[in-house]
Amino acid sequence: MKALVKAKPEPGLWLETVPEPTHGSGEVLIKIKKTAICGTDLHIYNWDAWSRKTIKTPMVIGHEFVGKVVAVGKGVKNFKPGQRVSGEGHITCGTCRNCRAGKRHLCIDTHGVGVNRIGCFTEFLVIPEINVYPIPPCIDDEVGAIMDPYGNAAHTALSFDLVGEDVLITGAGPIGIMAAAMARKIGARHVVVTDVNDYRLNLAKKLGATRTVKVGREDLQDIQKELGMKEGFDVGMEMSGVPSALDQMMENMNHGGKIAMLGIFADKPVLNTDLLIFKSLTLKGIYGREMFETWYKMINLLQSGLDIAPIITHRFPVDEFQKGFDVMNSGQSGKVILDWSK
Ligand code: NAD
Ligand code: ZN
Repeated sequence: MKALVKAKPEPGLWLETVPEPTHGSGEVLIKIKKTAICGTDLHIYNWDAWSRKTIKTPMVIGHEFVGKVVAVGKGVKNFKPGQRVSGEGHITCGTCRNCRAGKRHLCIDTHGVGVNRIGCFTEFLVIPEINVYPIPPCIDDEVGAIMDPYGNAAHTALSFDLVGEDVLITGAGPIGIMAAAMARKIGARHVVVTDVNDYRLNLAKKLGATRTVKVGREDLQDIQKELGMKEGFDVGMEMSGVPSALDQMMENMNHGGKIAMLGIFADKPVLNTDLLIFKSLTLKGIYGREMFETWYKMINLLQSGLDIAPIITHRFPVDEFQKGFDVMNSGQSGKVILDWSK
């Protein structure tokens, strides 16, 4: 079968032929229809420091997908061939304290699809039954393919009460933008999104940010005045992974403000502990999606009218994957879909 492989320890990806996987008991074999390119895939494509220490080549990468069940292993009860599904890309141990307590997102031994084990940028994928998630008919294939990053946005946005609150999101990448859309849907008052990239700020506006801020050109203190805010933001979502963005967020929070941190920092920030302590801020780290509470809520929110489809800006057949990675690297895109059915 065709697969996008990190075949060599150098920048790039290669479309190669690899053996079809076999499924064992408790596992589900999925025929991949559409996949989406994640920032993580881009890191692996570019072969940055994180990828060099994490990825063992050769590795089929990718973890954002929608497809159809083609076969199930012995003991699989909840899926049958023909069903349309996506899946949770974090494969958890099932035996650690948190797994046994039903808090799988806190597993101490998580393996990532397309990072530590064969990924979904291929024609067939095998994952354990518990990781498979059904996609209802009202969700189309493209949105079905971005459940994973949408789930990151949902996990972050649902961490703190947003009803009637003023929200600051630093980083208008696809995840920050989907979080902005969700914050509006849930009932936040102001949803202010910052970035350095105009294309992305425009996309954030399209999906529901009430005010976008170009970092370096506008000052958040002035924006607060413009919006009639007197005390600072109630909830922050750090979605850029840039130290100065975290500083800026902490400076602009109200006392008692709550910050959910999803962005992964290449350069480690120096935490302003004076702001943390004297403002009595709460910082919460977010990893992946809650299994499977986030999945329930994010799908129900789509069914209640949240529209995240405009975050998808580009589509390519998989043979043109290079164009997809190029546009992601340019910063002039939202989510990029690769189609495996063509
Ligand atoms: P992305 O890289 O597409 O988006 C980050 C955005 O931050 C970009 O648009 C960039 O222009 C912007 N940015 C750069 N400097 C900035 C600044 N000073 N202020 C504000 N914005 C700035 O990433 P994404 O796919 O949307 O993911 C968001 C972040 O979450 C990334 O850091 C990613 O690595 C991380 N992530 C974490 C998890 C997790 O489980 N914790 C999962 C997926 C992604
Ligand atoms: Zn575990």
